[in-house]
Amino acid sequence: MDYKTFYNFMLKLTVAFEKSKCRGDFIVGLESAFAKVLQVDRIKIYTLDDFSYTVKDFEKPWENLSDVEENKKIQEILNSFVGSKESSRLENNVIYMPIFEDTKILGVLKITLDKKIKSDNDFFEIATLVQKQISYAVLNFKSGEKMKLNTKFYQTIRNIAKIIETQYELSYILPILGEMIDSFIYEHLIYIFIKNKNKKEFKLVWPVNIKDSKIYEYLEELTPKSGVVIEREGKVGIFPLLSEQKLLGAVVAYNPFDKLNENEINYLDEISKQASITIERASEYMKILKDATLDALTGLNNRHQFALRLREETASAKRQNTPLCCIMTDIDFFKKVNDTYGHAVGDCVLKNVARTIKKELRENDIPSRYGGEEFAILLPHTTVEEAELVAQRLRMAIEKKKINIEEYNIEGTKHINVTISVGVSLYDKKMKEPQLLYQNADKALYMAKESGRNKVVVYCN
Ligand code: GH3
Ligand code: MG
Ligand code: MG
Repeated sequence: MDYKTFYNFMLKLTVAFEKSKCRGDFIVGLESAFAKVLQVDRIKIYTLDDFSYTVKDFEKPWENLSDVEENKKIQEILNSFVGSKESSRLENNVIYMPIFEDTKILGVLKITLDKKIKSDNDFFEIATLVQKQISYAVLNFKSGEKMKLNTKFYQTIRNIAKIIETQYELSYILPILGEMIDSFIYEHLIYIFIKNKNKKEFKLVWPVNIKDSKIYEYLEELTPKSGVVIEREGKVGIFPLLSEQKLLGAVVAYNPFDKLNENEINYLDEISKQASITIERASEYMKILKDATLDALTGLNNRHQFALRLREETASAKRQNTPLCCIMTDIDFFKKVNDTYGHAVGDCVLKNVARTIKKELRENDIPSRYGGEEFAILLPHTTVEEAELVAQRLRMAIEKKKINIEEYNIEGTKHINVTISVGVSLYDKKMKEPQLLYQNADKALYMAKESGRNKVVVYCN
């Protein structure tokens, strides 16, 4: 073999090692490298499964080899390589090369050639040279994937456990759960179903649509005792969400073409168990919070309490003829915070904004979390000029505040800043409904948003 051919072969091989993003890529890379020195028709790698010691196709490690003859042949070849010093073997138009991890045999590389060849001394020399490198590459693939999946898996589990520390509304939690699981399972669509308490039927809660209504039929097979149900030869996995032997719902992984592999099934099983705990705790929270007055995340009054205080304060302002103002605030581009840094950081920002608001207010002012990232403040005994000053002070305090997010380990970001837009309104005795007070503040807030954000606008009629 001339130098140039050999050089081209090694070059291609290096590309296969360094540039392959997935197993399929790697095989294609090998094929294109070996094509430089041989008339290659097809390359395959077979590996021995760590657990079952059965032969697996490197490109589809979750499948058993369906070709019985091939299975037998590969087993035979593998056995013959054990304890031998051969670096490759030629049989008709097929070359086999062992793949090793230290001295343990890991699998075999099978090169099918276009036509039968006698023997190729050049190739056997090359095989000795590249055998170790190919073995390393195969090993790296196996351990690299395992590690990637593991890290991501534990992160997901931790995040799911974390949601419940601050959130309790299922309508908010379930989409986050869905997105988390989805980001972690590559080839399958993820659905989350919740069981209707009275009607006993499953309701799709994430995402909005379902592609195959046959899934509902599979769901019927789920019972508190059934465990994970696998349908359609492994292409559909149904994982129960259970709480104290009761079926809360199900996570479904669905792909009409691909099977779930063993790892994915194990992981989905674990994730579903964690999700069950989160969902159950959220419903418990909800029950308690029904009677609560404070918002669980920020410790400010909740929306329900705000409505009560609004009625009281407007009545009192009317009776005593004292000025009363309302401030509505909304964090600017808050969705971007969630999207960029994740919901945990979003929650952290909400807590910080709430704390800053509280710090800037007087004892008698009444701050509430009106919803999501909106805060409403009632200011009794306050003129509109004073309220505008308070609003400006709030806006500036938030703008200046460096929110520390170090604990969330986001590379290159130790703290972030947000701004708020603010609307101010004054109570008028002639108002028929107390709600008009905050509706006017909300209108002013809308104008602050429209005119560029990070602004205070006073409502005037
Ligand atoms: P704008 O400047 O127009 O207000 O832009 P925005 O992105 O803030 O507006 P939008 O109303 O579209 O986004 C509000 C986001 O707040 C969407 C929602 O996911 C998020 N959100 C609501 N409640 C919570 C919560 O409790 N925690 C977190 N992290 N995010 C929340
Ligand atoms: Mg908003
Ligand atoms: Mg906003």
